Amino acid sequence: MPRPNFDVIVVGGGSVGVPSAYNLAKRGLKVLVLERRSAVGQGENKAAIGGIRATHSDPAKIVLCSRSLAEMSTWKERTGVDVGWKPGGYAFPVYDEPLERTLRGLFPIQHKYDLAIDWLDAGAMTELIPGIERRNLRGGTYSPNDGQLSPLKTPAAFQRAAQALGAEFRFKERVTGYRIEGGRILGVATDKGEYQAGAVVVATGADATDDGRMLGVEIPVKPDSHEAGITAPIEHFLKPLVVDMRPGAEGKTANFYFGQNDEGQIIFCYTPKALFYGTNHESTSEFLPILAARMIALIPRLRHALVRRVWRGLYPMTPDGIPIIDNVPEIAGLALAVGMCGQGFMLGAGVGQEIAALVVDGATSLPAEAHDRVRWARNFAKAGTEALK
Ligand SMILES: Cc1cc2nc3c(=O)[nH]c(=O)nc-3n(C[C@H](O)[C@H](O)[C@H](O)COP(=O)(O)OP(=O)(O)OC[C@H]3O[C@@H](n4cnc5c(N)ncnc54)[C@H](O)[C@@H]3O)c2cc1C
Repeated sequence: MPRPNFDVIVVGGGSVGVPSAYNLAKRGLKVLVLERRSAVGQGENKAAIGGIRATHSDPAKIVLCSRSLAEMSTWKERTGVDVGWKPGGYAFPVYDEPLERTLRGLFPIQHKYDLAIDWLDAGAMTELIPGIERRNLRGGTYSPNDGQLSPLKTPAAFQRAAQALGAEFRFKERVTGYRIEGGRILGVATDKGEYQAGAVVVATGADATDDGRMLGVEIPVKPDSHEAGITAPIEHFLKPLVVDMRPGAEGKTANFYFGQNDEGQIIFCYTPKALFYGTNHESTSEFLPILAARMIALIPRLRHALVRRVWRGLYPMTPDGIPIIDNVPEIAGLALAVGMCGQGFMLGAGVGQEIAALVVDGATSLPAEAHDRVRWARNFAKAGTEALK
């Protein structure tokens, strides 16, 4: 039986694929999402701890995450659907002069894009993060408009909104090939059949290199793994998501970050000093003892928190730490939304809007300096890595 035709196929129903489908359907396109897992958001999306901030140092991340914040902080008001939005900002407490200089050095680009971020002195930081270690605390940066969002509720909300606009989702269906003729994409093959479409969006996260092989182009996405965990709920006391940029005395952690979500759970993560490349999702025995020691050293009152579970997921990394969000000129009709690194969840809603512009208008919706950063055709070796992950 011939399969139906679609205007656009989105491959991957994760942090960026589902919002992309929603925005494409909103622009009137007939959309199909193909997802190899059994539901949306079950890939690296559900590994995210849910932080969402516009206060980056890269213009593309600033613009895209500002759009994400504008959409997601008002989602419940506009749709009645809860996405676990918790306002409260991001705080970077600072204990040494070099880090103070680095963070203050980002203010010009952040203020250029009208982001609310400023320096708080040690007293104000202590009020913001009750119980924080005060010895040598110099203060830190605080961006009150950032926040947190549920990685479990958000993709489901986008899926429902996309379906209400006519988008179709097919699960447990893996894309196994792309049909390209005369430099134009015509559709995809899956382990269940074939679909035709005038446009295809690749949003396959940590698997993007495989799609590159199938498409005959090199997509430089190399995943590395990161661990996280969550406690049982405790009384709300912590407003912002806290990032402690200091390397750990134990020699294993580059930094660590945590927040209290809308349900009162403390959700936490660290960046290992030596990165673990590959796709291993098994939790390590060292993660929790190391993380717990760091957290208790920073906020001793957290020693009573009861950890419920830990997990390990992947950052789909590009060589320069910046995503690829662009049409591919070599293959008409093909757009990439890959290489989201450690920020794909917060980028999702903004990337969805940009993908709709790329596919429907054939042109970026980003300011030129931001679009330049996420271009497909760029010199990955030359670009510097972003200062703040
Ligand atoms: C511990 C940890 C904490 C994190 N915390 C945050 C955070 O606080 N904030 C933040 O913004 N980011 C965070 N991240 C990063 C974030 O999780 C990722 O950047 C993001 O989920 C990547 O989104 P994606 O859509 O590219 O990939 P995914 O969400 O993994 O989606 C890709 C989808 O494509 C599907 N797929 C792949 N290949 C195929 C195929 N051939 N056919 C069909 N389907 C296919 C996969 O099954 C998957 O569902 C964190 C990551 C980790 C590991």
